[in-house]
Amino acid sequence: MGGVRGWVLIMNKKERLVAAIENGTVIDHIPSEKTYQVASLLGLHKLTEPVTIGYNYPSEKVGKKGLIKVSDKFFSDEEISRLSVVAPKVVLSIIKDYEVVEKKTVEIPNELHGIVKCNNPKCITNNEPMNTYFTVVDKLNGIVRCHYCDKEQDIKNVKLC
Ligand SMILES: [Zn+2]
Repeated sequence: MGGVRGWVLIMNKKERLVAAIENGTVIDHIPSEKTYQVASLLGLHKLTEPVTIGYNYPSEKVGKKGLIKVSDKFFSDEEISRLSVVAPKVVLSIIKDYEVVEKKTVEIPNELHGIVKCNNPKCITNNEPMNTYFTVVDKLNGIVRCHYCDKEQDIKNVKLC
């Protein structure tokens, strides 16, 4: 279990945590129960680079948090914006040569394409093989409107595609 203890120790010291990967991305402040959804939205299961997923770490911001480290991988803004749907407070640290060169917070984009399902069972997107398309009408409260059926919905109540 020595390895596990070592990991916990690293988690408690932020400097050393980010020092743990030479190049890549550290995804922090994920609500613990959303950790695997975040991993899935980023398609981490398809990567060949080393990925470390941890959760249930104490956090002042989100209760218990998850944390993901991905070596040699930098996500596009489009990929990052997908996370806003499940975990809007996530922070990504971009690591180069063991140093944090940039921190990105996740923001809800103006539009969501093919990320979440429409709540309206009669909506064409639920009856035809097509991508959904939502306009974000209220970023503060997370209200999105379906481009096809005009139904407004709370982003907390929509399902991921
Ligand atoms: Zn719709």
